[in-house]
Amino acid sequence: MNQKKLGIALVGLGSYAGGQLAPALQETEHCYLAGIVTGTPSKISTWKDKYNIPDKNVYNYQTFDSIKDNKDIDIVYVVLPNSMHAEYVIRAAAAGKHVICEKPMAITVEDCDRMIDACKKAGKMLSIGYRLHFEPYNLEMVRLGKEKTFGKLRKMSAGFGFRPPSNVWRLKKEMSGGGPLMDVGIYCIQGFCYVSGTEPIAVTAQEGKKTDPEKFKDVEESLTWQFEMPDGVIADGTTSYGEGMNYLKAEAEKGTFQLTSAFNYSGQSGETPNGRMNFPQVNQQARQLDDFALAIKNNRPTPVPGEMGKRDVKLLTAIYEAMRTGTKVQIK
Ligand code: NAD
Repeated sequence: MNQKKLGIALVGLGSYAGGQLAPALQETEHCYLAGIVTGTPSKISTWKDKYNIPDKNVYNYQTFDSIKDNKDIDIVYVVLPNSMHAEYVIRAAAAGKHVICEKPMAITVEDCDRMIDACKKAGKMLSIGYRLHFEPYNLEMVRLGKEKTFGKLRKMSAGFGFRPPSNVWRLKKEMSGGGPLMDVGIYCIQGFCYVSGTEPIAVTAQEGKKTDPEKFKDVEESLTWQFEMPDGVIADGTTSYGEGMNYLKAEAEKGTFQLTSAFNYSGQSGETPNGRMNFPQVNQQARQLDDFALAIKNNRPTPVPGEMGKRDVKLLTAIYEAMRTGTKVQIK
């Protein structure tokens, strides 16, 4: 196997890139932080010093395309506001780089198609930053669902919400694509799909009451939705920028298995009818990053490909349509 660590360039040095991804890249075995792309010159010296990044691996949004000539960079990781993902993934692919794109993949299904096509055309891999596919408690939920340890699944529910965010772009529909559903509700959708191993076929949805109509004039403050899954399974989702919540619950014939802290960067906890789950805490992002580097090195698919990102954007769109129309929306 190729022993070389693959070089990653982070595009967008905001709170997730700085708080989670760059530190995780200090723990990875198969990839490392090789470069940065930023529109904020004042961040450059701090990042260069902290992470030992040479001048030649520092780009801004205008010089970004010349990254194609940089042999140090194998992978571009797009960590920008949602509406900017499509442009930078497509430019990264055109520069001949493999790409990781943060969730939600894009704000329209059409953009997802363009991103997938661009990576295919360039012969490069595309994955989405779905870190929980590498987290032991969530993986245990997947196993219990798949092996039907507690019998057939009957019902699922999940909620993810937190107090109003400070990032202004998250409250602007043009940049975010929507409110908490786009940002954190997507984790509930992911949970329903990976625990059941199926995809929703229809949805109804209701917008919650706005406690601050001015702040939330552009996007929903909270939202609940009901997915009809195959085999009569119902999945109830809830998401909010006004209320903290964080759980994933699966009710099966012989009992309930659930994570009472499900989607955070750490601190997962869970239980089954047999007792509490007990797994090591891991660095999810480091695992995610190493898995993608290994997928490239070993020429095998990533478990979190662009197609999965597109599926989720399709589901997000269907939930918004159900919310807007007040009708049940069939998902094709
Ligand atoms: P952030 O606001 O902290 O960072 C965004 C970065 O984009 C900033 O560095 C900002 O300067 C830059 N930027 C460039 N052009 C911009 C523009 N026109 N307007 C605003 N910012 C601009 O946001 P974040 O929390 O780091 O989120 C970035 C992406 O990462 C989002 O897609 C988000 O959904 C995703 N994210 C994923 C996770 C996860 O757990 N996988 C966690 C947090 C965020």
